[in-house]
Amino acid sequence: MSPSAPCPGGRSWAAHAGETLSRAGHRSGAARAVVVQMLDASACCLSAQEVVDRSRAAQHPIGVASAYRVLEQLHSLHLVRRIDLGDGLARYEALSPDGERHHHVVCVECGRVVPFEDHRLESALSAASAPPGFSLIEHDVVLRGRCAHCSRDLLLPPAQAVSPA
Ligand SMILES: [Zn+2]
Ligand SMILES: [Zn+2]
Repeated sequence: MSPSAPCPGGRSWAAHAGETLSRAGHRSGAARAVVVQMLDASACCLSAQEVVDRSRAAQHPIGVASAYRVLEQLHSLHLVRRIDLGDGLARYEALSPDGERHHHVVCVECGRVVPFEDHRLESALSAASAPPGFSLIEHDVVLRGRCAHCSRDLLLPPAQAVSPA
């Protein structure tokens, strides 16, 4: 189907995203290539600022306005999903063509976001029935807790928590 070589592991989201953007009439450009590449390389969601930070680290710096523009184009074409973790920051994650999806657990202390999969949760959500008149499109589950690092810090006396190893 795609003229490009298959990606390792069968992932071809970047090629699919590039083609879909072009078909929708969006011009290709450096910012678009960088955003698509950053999302493709990430196992989980990124904010516009994180895309910008990673683009700088990769020596292909793009501006935050360009990052937002491309992220919103991708979102309007259903190539990414926008995730709201309740901290007022929009995060974006590539929607895998094979339908693989995960949920997120957020550390209430340090804000770390970790993806997780739970097949029982997934089947319960698929079986959930919507109120009359509603048709369900998607679901997001965000769990909150303390990561291993922050849980450990809470158990230590304050002096030990800040002392060097
Ligand atoms: Zn994720
Ligand atoms: Zn934490």
